[in-house]
Amino acid sequence: MVGKMRLVREDTLYMLNLIEDALKGGSLESILKYDTKAKGRVRKALDMLGSSTIVHLVCNGRSSWFYVGPHSVHYIIPKTYCSCIDFNINVIFRGRIPTCYHLVVHVINTALGRVKTLNVKINDYEKILEEVIKEEDSRRLRVLLVKA
Ligand SMILES: [Zn+2]
Repeated sequence: MVGKMRLVREDTLYMLNLIEDALKGGSLESILKYDTKAKGRVRKALDMLGSSTIVHLVCNGRSSWFYVGPHSVHYIIPKTYCSCIDFNINVIFRGRIPTCYHLVVHVINTALGRVKTLNVKINDYEKILEEVIKEEDSRRLRVLLVKA
């Protein structure tokens, strides 16, 4: 089981590196060639670009990344992990797909220089992480994003 999980994670990194490379040389649509392997998650990522934000939250030398969508916020480790149900069930548990669409959105936004960096105080940093883990959303993060 441990071996299988490690393989799945290599698959995630491999797929997201391919997408990153395709973005360097081509148009956004050029990454759709990976959509079959990702069972629709690449197209979904392109569809969500306009209504989502990738936030790099920084606090005293610590930092975390979040996908902020219209209805949910997910904690992500770039090219490696996402806290969403799709990643936990279909990537880690079932090994059906290499990535969820949130990690693809992160790669695209990074390539386009559109990641939003927020420097926050420690109480905000910890509150946001707590809200995302408990509620898959964060009122605090949304408030800070509006002010930024
Ligand atoms: Zn996800």
